[in-house]
Amino acid sequence: MPLVTPSIERIQPYQPGTPIEQVAEKLGFAASDVVKLASNENPLGPSPVAMAAAARELERVHRYPDSESPSLRAALAKRLGVAVEEVVVSNGSNELLELLVRTFCAGGEHVVFGEPAFVVYRLACLAQGVPHTAVPLDAGYVHDLPAMAQAIRPDTRLVFIANPNNPTGTYVARRELERFLRTVPPEVIVVLDEAYIEYADAPDYPDGLALRSVHPRLVAVRTFSKIYGLAGLRVGYAVMPAELAGYIHRVRAPFNVNSIAQAAGAAALDDGAHVARTRALNLEEKAFVSARLERLGVRVVPSQANFLLVDVGRPARDLYDALLQHGVIVRTVPPLPSMARVTIGTRPENERFLAALQTVLG
Ligand code: PMP
Repeated sequence: MPLVTPSIERIQPYQPGTPIEQVAEKLGFAASDVVKLASNENPLGPSPVAMAAAARELERVHRYPDSESPSLRAALAKRLGVAVEEVVVSNGSNELLELLVRTFCAGGEHVVFGEPAFVVYRLACLAQGVPHTAVPLDAGYVHDLPAMAQAIRPDTRLVFIANPNNPTGTYVARRELERFLRTVPPEVIVVLDEAYIEYADAPDYPDGLALRSVHPRLVAVRTFSKIYGLAGLRVGYAVMPAELAGYIHRVRAPFNVNSIAQAAGAAALDDGAHVARTRALNLEEKAFVSARLERLGVRVVPSQANFLLVDVGRPARDLYDALLQHGVIVRTVPPLPSMARVTIGTRPENERFLAALQTVLG
């Protein structure tokens, strides 16, 4: 008898951004000289307020966390104007994406997502042997919502829409999203993955929470890993109808969010200044990097996030290797072999990337 299902056999393990220490060790750089623009992290670091809260919590780590994460959930509920019963927190938003599949597709219900979109949607389905349809993005690398609506079958339980999308940085506009939500059968759960929402500035970018009245089973998933700069602590959250949240609580592991992450997350919510600084830096630097890339003849996909998808006109794997020699880490995008994904950094980091790219492209 095979050890695993054919579905698990097919899984290519998640490929994270290459860690700084690995590049430093392999290529003889000081870790401080390596520029990592590969995982859409906050280039300004964590909020100082969150770090202080995390440090205070360290003294109590001999105790289990409160399994219900009450302070963090209450802080989120207050901030977002929703009921505490509608807030679920998780070990990174990644865990929530998996929990949604494990909880609501345990009977083999079907899932729809875009392609390319965040790879975890597919991984979660493969791990559970859940049938799924990956719907190609349109020619502008935007989720093709009409095609996704067409892909919904009688047994479809979940639809994932990353907005803005990773790896493209593109977004679906309010009108199109509303139209889609009105066509989706009410029993289908629509998951808006809003990991990068705080970076979006397009006037017609829709806040998922404002659309909850349009579709009864809307789930908005967000994270402290991106603009809040807490990726290493692993804490994410979602707002969903209390009925759905109740089922997630049955399936999730006890103590799924550690006590340091709970404290730091709640504190980070209060540090609006850090979020504002990060957002302003990203907008300014995204415009700077985009303009410089266009001048180098590199096509840039317009982005609402803190990264850019760029067409380097050659195998991006070679470009990745060449940039590594300059101590710059970017990310390849396997379904798009001539494209690379580059996180927006600080001005010195972006200058390093642009100089290295110019050298590599000749
Ligand atoms: N959703 C999207 C769209 C992402 O890009 C990421 C991180 N790459 C995640 C979810 C998961 O992030 P985390 O688990 O750190 O919250």
